[in-house]
Amino acid sequence: QASSVLLEAQGLCAWYGAAQALFDLHLQVGRGEAVALMGRNGAGKSTTLKALMGLLPRRAGRVCFLGRDCSQEAPFQRARAGLGYVPEERRIFTDLTVDENLEVGRQAPRHWPDGRPAPVWTPERLWTLFPHLEPMRSRPGGRMSGGEQQMLTLARTLMGQPLLVLLDEPSEGVAPVIVDQMAEMLRALKAEGVSVLLSEQNLGFAAEVCDRAYLLDEGRVRFEGTMAALLGEPALRRAHMGI
Ligand code: ATP
Repeated sequence: QASSVLLEAQGLCAWYGAAQALFDLHLQVGRGEAVALMGRNGAGKSTTLKALMGLLPRRAGRVCFLGRDCSQEAPFQRARAGLGYVPEERRIFTDLTVDENLEVGRQAPRHWPDGRPAPVWTPERLWTLFPHLEPMRSRPGGRMSGGEQQMLTLARTLMGQPLLVLLDEPSEGVAPVIVDQMAEMLRALKAEGVSVLLSEQNLGFAAEVCDRAYLLDEGRVRFEGTMAALLGEPALRRAHMGI
């Protein structure tokens, strides 16, 4: 498996001021995998994604992306290496149109570590993944619903040609119909070979998209295994997810 690991965290710790929020976290995401980071509010999901991206000032442990230690790299350097990040709060330019938002994110196509070309995202290709965005191409981002903005944030991240996308709770606060579209879109993304690490509280949504899961509680990994195994562990979910 070693050669197919794209992203790996070893002994990741993070703090907010003096308060430790993440304890000795180990995780791996393989090429073509969709992995869920589950847990209730405050479990440490967002913190994990931010630490992987290098966004937290106080952290310890190692992060390797594409087999290279990137622990000392700034977020933009990790992004440039092909690590995409879609934060929980939508980050679109409200005065720019959908088309313009996509152009802002555009990067040159990438290659996999083995030299093969990675999927290339163009606006035209994105419309097949996000058919609902196409009719809004000339609409300013500020005049879209929260779910649409979430889709646009992801579409713009894809214009950066990521090899792996960190996705923070895309289903939160989004209308059910958009959640369904989002699940479908993430499955399509995975089928294209893009790996995903999805932070999520919604077990049904995560199970539709992901093969494997890590369950976090109070900043620690409490379970690691297949989604099917997690679904078959009601006691674990009661203890650490409150469901
Ligand atoms: P949510 O669904 O609420 O985003 P989460 O699982 O992503 O939950 P985190 O946001 O990672 O959880 O929070 C983990 C812990 O770190 C919580 O105890 C939270 O209160 C704390 N925390 C998060 N952000 C900050 C911050 N900016 N300053 C101080 N503490 C924080």
